[in-house]
Order: sequence, then structure tokens, then C-alpha cells
Amino acid sequence: MEAVIVVEQLSKVYEMGEVRVEALRGIDVRVAVGDFVAIMGASGSGKSTFLNILGCLDRPSSGRYWLDGLDVSQMSSDHLAVARNKKLGFVFQSFHLLARTSAVENVELPLLYSGVPRRARRARALAALHATGLAARAEHYPSQLSGGQQQRVAIARALVNAPALLLADEPTGNLDSQTSVEIMGILQRLNTGQGITIVMVTHEADIAQYATRILVFQDGQLVDDRPVDDRRLAPDMEARHGQNPLG
Ligand code: ADP
Ligand code: MG
Repeated sequence: MEAVIVVEQLSKVYEMGEVRVEALRGIDVRVAVGDFVAIMGASGSGKSTFLNILGCLDRPSSGRYWLDGLDVSQMSSDHLAVARNKKLGFVFQSFHLLARTSAVENVELPLLYSGVPRRARRARALAALHATGLAARAEHYPSQLSGGQQQRVAIARALVNAPALLLADEPTGNLDSQTSVEIMGILQRLNTGQGITIVMVTHEADIAQYATRILVFQDGQLVDDRPVDDRRLAPDMEARHGQNPLG
């Protein structure tokens, strides 16, 4: 199976004066195209550090990382920024939308950085909002949207560059349980319908059940890697089963 992520002996040490924290200690893992991975583990186990390295937001102290076949552990900062914009989409717990900017303009931002012309930007941003069920709110500002709607905007923004990999750090951490299930439905639809590979950090066991594979971190080490049995399907996934996910 083709791999989107190959990580070998990845380590991260934070040094602050006298204090030395080994946040990651020799992680080896492969993530195949089309996987939907949930990363679990106690607070402080290294989940966010690992996701930030996968997302090229941080560099490992040692070890290798190939993203979509590219050895990003050896790249310069400039090349890394380009790889990040082209290959990755991010979703965060607190949405990270620009406040004085409409939903559709927020979604357009990554296209602005990659130099897509204005009309094409708008068309692609609207299509991405459509895919997350928020086309009707395109002109709304974040303050006019619920948390779940803001997260849909953030997912649309993460998708607009057609990334190889979608990374999400506690994407449902600020949402109620009903809205969390809706967001998991969107991620499942993107995964099965469009074949987007997803790596998601969560500390909620019931949210991890929507993934296909669970990695468990403990004290900076990967201590378990298992398929999800009894996978949960979000209700709209069951209803839409067999239909065009963008339809
Ligand atoms: P998790 O996301 O699983 O809660 P983190 O990856 O955030 O864990 O943190 C792993 C360890 O690394 C923790 O001990 C944390 O305190 C430490 N750590 C994380 N980021 C930094 C940083 N920027 N500087 C120093 N220590 C850090
Ligand atoms: Mg974290």
C-alpha cells in the first residue's frame, strides 16, 4: 500500500535551561493512503508534538519523515512551507479562523498563498464549503456562526488545496456531543468519498471509534497500533452510503 507518511525513529527533545523533556522517543510508523488514524494517549504523551511534526510546523530532533514520498526532515524552511501549503490541511480545536473575514474568504486564504487567481479562488472555496455543508453561510463572519459551523469552515479551508493529508488536533474538543458526531460525519465522508487520508488527535474514546485505526502514545512512545473494530458510522454516513459524498 502506498504510504502518505513514513516515520522512522522520530524523536523530539525540548530543552529549556536545565530541563530536558523527551516529548517523542523513537517513533516508527507508516500511514497508508486512505487511512483514518486516531491518535490517543494521556495529556503530555506527545500527541500534539507528533502531529505538529507531521504537519511540518515543527522539526524532529532526530529521525526521518517522508511526507507523500518527500523527505521533509532534510528540507529547508522555504521548501517546508511550500510542502505544507500544497500537501497538508490543518484543523484545530479552536478553529483558528480570521475574525473579520467572511467564511468564504477564510477558506480562500490557502489559495491566496499559492497564487490561484481570484475567480478560481472563489469557485474552489465555495465548492469546499459546499462539501462541508456550509455553502449557505459563505458570507457570514465567524462570530455569526456556531462552533460546529466554524469548524466546518475550518475543514473547508483545510481541504481547499486538495491536500494529500488532513491533520486534526482535537477537532471536536470545543464542541457538544451532537455537533461532534456531525463533524465526524464530515471527516468520514471526506475519507471514504474523496479518499483523503486523515490523522486526528483525540482523547475521547468514542470519537476515536469513527476512525479506522488507533495509535496510542504513552510518554513519547507508540505503545499500541490497532484497527478499530465496531467502527462507528456517523448517521449521515449511513444515510448517504453509496451516494456521491459531494452530492
Ligand atoms: P499531548 O498533546 O499528548 O498532551 P504534547 O505533545 O503537547 O502532549 O507534549 C508532550 C511533552 O512535551 C509534554 O511533557 C510537554 O510539556 C512537552 N512540550 C510540548 N511542547 C513543548 C514546548 N514547546 N517546549 C517545551 N516542552 C514542550
Ligand atoms: Mg495536545
